[in-house]
Amino acid sequence: MPWIPRGVRDGIVTSRYPRQPDGFGPFFFGHVHVAPALGDGPEALADAVRACPTGAITLDGDAVRLDRGRCVLCGRCVVLAPGTFRADPGFETAAFERRELVVPPGEGDDAEVAAARARLARRVRGLRRSVHVRHVDAGSDGSEEWEVAALTNPVYDVQRLGVFFTASPKHADVLLVTGAGSAGMERPLRETYDLMPEPKVVVAVGVDAASGGMVGERYAARGGVAQLVPVDVFVPGSPPSPFGILHGILAAVGILGSRPHDGAEDPAGRSRT
Ligand code: SF4
Repeated sequence: MPWIPRGVRDGIVTSRYPRQPDGFGPFFFGHVHVAPALGDGPEALADAVRACPTGAITLDGDAVRLDRGRCVLCGRCVVLAPGTFRADPGFETAAFERRELVVPPGEGDDAEVAAARARLARRVRGLRRSVHVRHVDAGSDGSEEWEVAALTNPVYDVQRLGVFFTASPKHADVLLVTGAGSAGMERPLRETYDLMPEPKVVVAVGVDAASGGMVGERYAARGGVAQLVPVDVFVPGSPPSPFGILHGILAAVGILGSRPHDGAEDPAGRSRT
């Protein structure tokens, strides 16, 4: 039985997140950080806007805004305008409102996000001991499914936090949706949502689910799952890491808050936005 000495040698591999920060992937490209003071000239910024395959970057005079709900993490802007855009490993990027994925935030956004968070917290008060999750693929390319499946492996082990996957929507508290919202999945997704008991929350996982990603909105896709079911939490990334998805689930049921504001540092000194 080779697994016995291997287990003794490796010790406990299970993460302690969220009780302790995880040293996960200091070189992992989790999201694009936008510097508060632009460090590039107009030409470099215009190049970055042109190179972005999903139109995630907008320029308004001297202001740059980046929509993480569209960003597929291709890294082109980081190469073309490195004084403004930076690849960052932080994974706690879940948002309670679609507009919260646009950084830096606009005026008035903070108050609306706080209100949305308070409304959701009131709704899910009874869900904090354990939650059951129903996952629906609504037109994904399959990449998010790998990350969702990893949640139950010994490293992430979401069962230790009282998070369980279920096959039946009637037993589910959380609807985890991946994919661009394909037309063919419109009815099954809606039926799944309708069969879930109250209180229920919807977590849209990945850029495709937030905006349609590279697919966008066209005859066979709705440009994100918010067009099909009411979304409570958006998890950006293409695909998001299992930690990012876990953060989104825990934020949705009120165990964790969403991300701090752009540029904040976590106790381990890593940027979390
Ligand atoms: S990393 Fe994101 S924002 Fe930057 S060019 Fe690629 S898709 Fe656009």
